[in-house]
Amino acid sequence: MDGCIFCKIVTGEAPAIVVYEDDLVLAFLDIRPIVAGHTLVIPKTHSATLDHLDPDLAADVFRVGHLLARALRRSELGSDGANLLINDGRAAFQTVHHTHLHVVPRKHRDIVQFGIGFVTRRPRGREQVAAHIREGIQRLNAEDAQ
Ligand code: AMP
Ligand code: ZN
Repeated sequence: MDGCIFCKIVTGEAPAIVVYEDDLVLAFLDIRPIVAGHTLVIPKTHSATLDHLDPDLAADVFRVGHLLARALRRSELGSDGANLLINDGRAAFQTVHHTHLHVVPRKHRDIVQFGIGFVTRRPRGREQVAAHIREGIQRLNAEDAQ
């Protein structure tokens, strides 16, 4: 859709650090991460809110969120869990109006670090972080293939 920053990322007109891609779904690092590894999963087809998102595509987005949550646990980022979240609509503080699933890695007892990150939203070492996530996906695929 014209003027949508996430559609521009899909077409390559806008930059993003992509960690996962298939025919239907793209996952890339949030530009203002709460913590290292904060990733956004989007359908490649534009939909502003869940009201306009095809249910099968919604399932594909969650499939990739699930993959990332598992991959993050196996990555050097060493997460112990993750928050998966969709802000659906302006009432829910959605600011980018192309549906997206936040995947935010969490560690045991990270509440202070998480709180600081929630306020500062400062990216650090993004290429290295992305490399760790891709490595985590490879480890997961190898494990699932056994
Ligand atoms: P929300 O719509 O409130 O669920 O959040 C939108 C998210 O998109 C925020 O976490 C932003 O930091 C993130 N964001 C906005 N523009 C970009 C971009 N060009 N690349 C990556 N992340 C972005
Ligand atoms: Zn869009």
